[in-house]
Amino acid sequence: MSNGPILILGGTAEASKLASRLVAEGHRVISSLAGRTLNPATLKGEVRIGGFGGARGLIAYIVKQEISLLIDATHPFATQISDNAILAAASTKTPFVRLERPAWHTKPGDSWSNVTSLQDAVGLIPAKARVLLALGRQHIAPFSRRGDVHFVVRMIDPPEAPLDLVDFELELSKPGKVDDETAFLTTKRITHIVCRNSGGTASYTKIKAARDLGIPVIMIDRPHRPSTHSVADIESVILFVDEVFGSV
Ligand code: NAP
Repeated sequence: MSNGPILILGGTAEASKLASRLVAEGHRVISSLAGRTLNPATLKGEVRIGGFGGARGLIAYIVKQEISLLIDATHPFATQISDNAILAAASTKTPFVRLERPAWHTKPGDSWSNVTSLQDAVGLIPAKARVLLALGRQHIAPFSRRGDVHFVVRMIDPPEAPLDLVDFELELSKPGKVDDETAFLTTKRITHIVCRNSGGTASYTKIKAARDLGIPVIMIDRPHRPSTHSVADIESVILFVDEVFGSV
């Protein structure tokens, strides 16, 4: 096996933590970002930004950089890059693991309607609702046909093009703590939340606040994925890395 760098396909908080951990343990790490975020957090190790040019581009990159291990730590809804990673790892025979944070599950007091697409979410919103759309800018367009609904659109970076919605307000912020989320939902008189089942703790605060306030959530479930070597936490990735590099 080559002693080449570990490639982390990132763009998530877990990927960033993993890079720090692996660098601290003496590994050479390259983190790859798609380049969607205006001000990405500083990462330990090397960073490359931008698409590879499909699975073929990723394969070429792995070969050229003599990547010794590929870690897909991308977001659960980032399906294209994950499919490319599986293909590239198989065709280059590169050891591979996917780090995927567990999905959220309902708890007593939650009122969720589970859907599998944005279109289904659009159809479930009752007329005259005041809806928090906790979705990235590329997922807003399907809601444009609901002129009978007031949308509060929350995103981190401003949209590149004007939002195609009839009745909306834009909130440029990150999710806060549960108390902040409770205050936000109350002040904005939110009656429904539409979000994706991203998992993780940072954006779970709105789900907890919604439970406390009795606000229904239209939850877009994760897409079905091909089965692959997948683990749910950083420790399990470290164990796999140690196995690959022969230190266990
Ligand atoms: P996607 O649909 O799976 O990927 C689209 C294309 O973007 C890929 O084919 C690839 O281009 C490029 N790409 C994606 N992730 C990349 C990475 N880590 N490094 C290099 N190129 C990458 O992904 P997406 O949903 O647009 O998400 C883009 C990135 O944002 C991901 O890294 C993901 O972890 C992060 N993110 C996504 C979400 C979300 O809701 N989807 C939320 C938070 C963070 P080429 O085919 O040219 O290689």
